[in-house]
Amino acid sequence: MTASKPHAILLTSPGMGHIIPMVELGKRLLAHHSFHVTIFVVTTDSATTTSQILQQTSNLSSLNIVHVPPIDVSNKLPPNPPLEIRINLTMLESLPFLRSSLTSINNFPPPSALIVDLFGLQALPMARDLGMLTYVYFATTAWFSAVTVYFSDTDKKIMERHAESREPLSIPGCTPLRFEDTLESFLSPGGAMYEGYHAAAKEIVAADGILMNTWQDLEPTATKALTEDGILGRLTKGEVYAVGPLVRGVEKKLEGGKKGWVLQWLDEQPAESVVYMSLGSGGTMSGNQMREVALGLELSQQRFIWVVRPPCEGDASGAFFDVASGGDAEMSYLPEGFLKRTEGVGVVVHMWAPQAEILEHPATGGFVTHCGWNSVLESVENGVPMVAWPLYAEQKMNAFMLSEELGVAVRVAEEGGGVVGREQVAKVVRRVMVDKEGVGMRKKVKELKLSGEKALCMFGSSHHSLSKMRKECEVHLQ
Ligand code: UDP
Repeated sequence: MTASKPHAILLTSPGMGHIIPMVELGKRLLAHHSFHVTIFVVTTDSATTTSQILQQTSNLSSLNIVHVPPIDVSNKLPPNPPLEIRINLTMLESLPFLRSSLTSINNFPPPSALIVDLFGLQALPMARDLGMLTYVYFATTAWFSAVTVYFSDTDKKIMERHAESREPLSIPGCTPLRFEDTLESFLSPGGAMYEGYHAAAKEIVAADGILMNTWQDLEPTATKALTEDGILGRLTKGEVYAVGPLVRGVEKKLEGGKKGWVLQWLDEQPAESVVYMSLGSGGTMSGNQMREVALGLELSQQRFIWVVRPPCEGDASGAFFDVASGGDAEMSYLPEGFLKRTEGVGVVVHMWAPQAEILEHPATGGFVTHCGWNSVLESVENGVPMVAWPLYAEQKMNAFMLSEELGVAVRVAEEGGGVVGREQVAKVVRRVMVDKEGVGMRKKVKELKLSGEKALCMFGSSHHSLSKMRKECEVHLQ
């Protein structure tokens, strides 16, 4: 233990989509930047479910992980609260445990910096109080980070005009944000999360630094706008660092374990012949939509792996399903005879699949994704072109960037938010897997993969960013 080695505390909010990128950041800080790292993991389910999935998905051997004892907040919530409200309250209730743990750490150097994700902002005042530096980690694009920074200082009237006129919102130095890609409940005045997100944005710009899971060459203009001399950079107290791509693929291992049946099945398929479909750690669709997806996959005549969860109610285009709650393992919501008819050609996985390993497998040739940023980065990391099927959060922005700007994905039709028909599903799958267009996308995504690798190497932009951030922490220790 050396006195000058900073100790970073990482706080993750519930949900594998939040935990995984934070764990990857922790690994990076430990292995490449000589930090002591402790990760506090907050869960809404029983900690065992999360830790089991975590063990299966990441090599954690070298990390100091503390599971915050699960807190049941259900009696403090209104009926059917939005997921964001549940997560926020759980994070708030975790603070006393975090505080007492931080003040009693004695086997490591005292904590020098706290890094939180977008749901962990409530811990920042406590960190300041304890004399720590504060960092916010956007496990997403520089573009979305820029929208948030801009929003922190934007007059409500501008947001009202955007919502009323439905004209794109100009974000200084960045691609304008189309109304149809806006996170309406967050950015439209009157939206359920508007006031809360505005307060959060103010908290974010007041942090000592902002980290983003992207890299300079992927998003040169948005990254530039957020730097010290950039138009938006002037709104943030600290520096903004692009530190990605931090993806599980970089170090994942099967750790001597047996290959599961899905990977064994993939081993038997020809190169780049299988399309993988998954909607992130908890995404699901309406029953009608799932039916069209099933029949569309069949119609596409492509081999496939499809991760399914019980459908959401009504015609909602997408919703979050808590995988810890189990669900119908018989998958009786799938069309009659579908499993039998597609036997040998397709694999349907209930709830959770080894995604990083599937995307890395040479037999995988395309990915139908909800555009969660971890999934996008895992696809890029393995040079796999995508069908973009965004559901919620900032996923529509991600889909726009992948299809319109980077040319590595095709989008499912935006048919007014209605059910996408089976012919359309088959068409987009074939565009990526079979058509000439797919060949071009594959080439581009492989170029992005190389550019991401370059950013992380010794003289790369992301490595440089984390080295600078470490310097800040070192200076703070003195
Ligand atoms: N994931 C997985 N198996 C699954 C579904 C998801 O390993 O069946 C992982 C996936 O590899 C990714 C994360 O869960 O690392 C999902 O994060 P993402 O940002 O894509 O979406 P979110 O879950 O936040 O919507």
